[in-house]
Amino acid sequence: MLQDIVGLVGEHDYRVVFIALAVCLCGSMTAFRLYSRMNGAKGLVRGAWLLLTALVAGSGVWATHSLAMLAFSPGLKVGYSPTGLMQSLMAAVVLLAAGFFASGANRDRANQFAGGLLIGLGVAAMHYSSMSSFVTQGRVEWEAALIGASVVLGVLGSTAALVIAGRATSFLRQSLAALMFTTGVAVLHLTGMTAMTIIPDASVVVPDQLLSGGMMALGVAVITGMIILGGLGAMLIESQTSRSALERIRILANAAYEGIVVIQGGVIKDANAAFCDLAGLGLRDLYGRPFDDALLSFDDDLGVRTDAERREGRMHPVNGGQSVPVEVFARVMDDGARSDTRGLTVLAIRDLRERRSAEEKIRYLAEHDGLTGLPNRNVLKSRLASALDRVEASGETLALICVDLDHFKEANDLHGHLAGDAVLIEAARRLQSSVPAPSFAARLGGDEFVVVQITDQDQPTAAAELAGQLLDALKETAIFEGQDLAMSASLGVSLYPDDGRTVEALLANADMALYRAKESGRGVYRFFKREMDQTIRERRNLSRELRQAILDEDLVVHYQPQARAADGEIFGFEALVRWRHPVRGMIPPLDFIPLAEETGLILPLGEWVLRRACTEAAGWERPLCIAVNLSPLQLNQPNLATMVHEVLIETGLSATRLELEITESALFKDYQRALDNLRRLKALGVRIAMDDFGTGFSSLSTLQSFPFDKIKVDKSFVENIHRDERATVIVKAVLGLGRSLDIPVVAEGVETAEQLEFLRSEDCAEVQGYAIGRPAPADTLGVWTNELPLPAKASPAPRKRRKVA
Ligand code: C2E
Ligand code: CA
Ligand code: CA
Repeated sequence: MLQDIVGLVGEHDYRVVFIALAVCLCGSMTAFRLYSRMNGAKGLVRGAWLLLTALVAGSGVWATHSLAMLAFSPGLKVGYSPTGLMQSLMAAVVLLAAGFFASGANRDRANQFAGGLLIGLGVAAMHYSSMSSFVTQGRVEWEAALIGASVVLGVLGSTAALVIAGRATSFLRQSLAALMFTTGVAVLHLTGMTAMTIIPDASVVVPDQLLSGGMMALGVAVITGMIILGGLGAMLIESQTSRSALERIRILANAAYEGIVVIQGGVIKDANAAFCDLAGLGLRDLYGRPFDDALLSFDDDLGVRTDAERREGRMHPVNGGQSVPVEVFARVMDDGARSDTRGLTVLAIRDLRERRSAEEKIRYLAEHDGLTGLPNRNVLKSRLASALDRVEASGETLALICVDLDHFKEANDLHGHLAGDAVLIEAARRLQSSVPAPSFAARLGGDEFVVVQITDQDQPTAAAELAGQLLDALKETAIFEGQDLAMSASLGVSLYPDDGRTVEALLANADMALYRAKESGRGVYRFFKREMDQTIRERRNLSRELRQAILDEDLVVHYQPQARAADGEIFGFEALVRWRHPVRGMIPPLDFIPLAEETGLILPLGEWVLRRACTEAAGWERPLCIAVNLSPLQLNQPNLATMVHEVLIETGLSATRLELEITESALFKDYQRALDNLRRLKALGVRIAMDDFGTGFSSLSTLQSFPFDKIKVDKSFVENIHRDERATVIVKAVLGLGRSLDIPVVAEGVETAEQLEFLRSEDCAEVQGYAIGRPAPADTLGVWTNELPLPAKASPAPRKRRKVA
């Protein structure tokens, strides 16, 4: 038996053994390559790779075994059962599949041991089932211990191969694992063969239908070759498709707006066109370049991290351009299947310049006035606050100058909003060029500006000097579409810290000083004085008292007669309000109407006067007219016509007896609404008179824009008839205008017989003034309002009966 065994080893054909080993190495190399693909895949694809791995490895082992059998010639007739061979192939494939599946599941040691065990068993099962298909002319005897040893060695070899392979991502690991596996298979085979002893027996017949060694070799070679080629083909197709997928990805990546860069081992492996632009280099130069801080620095200084979180940083173009703010997303692309994806990280880099500039723009818009580009109110407050800190620390001085353009609203309405805008822009430009940094100008809104002066010169000298310069700068006419637009401004100045230590106090006090500047005739500047505080407080008290007076009906209406110039016939009265103050006595309207207008109290006040006057007039025996003054604020109330209508209904006064007087400037607050209101009033049957004509713009277009029923030429002209050439000319001109527009003209403030005579000679239609009658309480009007027979003798002057002398 020993001899047999020696003979057995000696009877191997080593060329065939060598081929068998080469086939095993090739098959297992291919199998481990496929195994690496399996490890990188998921789901069904993973299953497919597993099947291919098992098929290639199984058939490789099977072929190795079959070839090794061919190399072995016991010197007897041999035959192989085809079914047995097929069964051994099946056993190898199934158990190897189980083994590769087990080892690849979690890829830890336990898995690898389990996998090694299954694969080792698979190889052994293949070996021994194949041996059972082997028939020769003799008895075959087996030695159990050696069989056991062969199985153990096979399992060890397989396990070692799996441990060496790991994920089998590199060629080296694949090769070493294949070598180990081949060694395992070879050792198992040889030990297994040693366990077998053939005792020749001529009585054993080898059936003819069994495959001869040559046939088996051919069949095995064909099947194995096809399977291994199939596996290689699959791998080729896979890498080909992934290459063309890569090609497609490159095209897509180049079309992307974001920069995409692939880095591996700290160097650039690939990049798209957008990244090349950001980096300022072509792909050829970028390739292999270290990817570090010099190219992309992160704001958080943490370097490239591979979490998917969005981070911000700056790209530094290699060609030395300006660094670009970017947003970065990092992704690890390592699928573990291939060595070429190890540590592969892809960064998507978004250029934030556009977004930043949009943000910049939004911030600019939020902080600056859209028209003039000056800082707006909000920014003024914050910049003023920091300026206060600054001067507090540096010992510089600070002055705050409120600037208000004179007559801006009127000019705006007269010349149009475009001209108004041009004036504002020009004013802003002049202000800005008059204040060198760190001083600055801002726009509060409308025609109000603020200049903050920060200087190391003494105050108030420096502020006075600057205020004077600003006045001069704003006095020059602006030109809009070839048209000269007059400009001027009033200024109010407050000083830090004397006039206030806070933003609010300085603003409020400069505003108060501005108010004073306006009061003293505009076109000047005023410094804030403590006394101003006092006047303001008084005004506040007064408005509180006025509010109460309206409620308490402490107001009275006086009536001033209006007469036809030609024959002195009284045809109506103008209602003029007075305030009967418990302490100060009778207060004239000019002392409280502007305050009422400012505080909005004019609305209840005006409505009260209207109701009072209409009630009074409705009680007159003679249906004389009643003229009531409407303030600008009233004219802009959307419900004005409704209110007037209600008063007429309540008091029972016929609308045709009511005349409402408005001034030209009242129209300009909101021209359209004012005109709307006038039209609706007119539709009620109420007449509308243009009051104080000659003091405002006296524009012909105002008169043409609405069919006024009367023009009242201002008393400032009438009182200067014969005294001032200009006044006389103006009165004549207004009378001429009235004639040409077919609107009757009333002369106000007629005090003397000469004035009356002149007006009559100039064909003036109506007159009003002390010469006809002074404003008087309602209960004194009976002489005109009662339907009385003419007395024989005239009543005492100036209350002549119905007619003017
Ligand atoms: P006005 O509408 O121009 O009223 C005419 C003013 O001239 C009245 O002053 C009247 O007393 C005064 N006057 C009349 N004839 C003569 C004259 O021959 N010589 C002189 N020197 N003055 C004369 P008054 O009553 O002080 O009213 C002043 C202004 O107050 C009025 O000017 C009017 O604009 C306003 N006003 C008066 N009552 C009301 C009212 O109820 N509502 C509104 N919104 N304003 C009123
Ligand atoms: Ca009036
Ligand atoms: Ca008037």
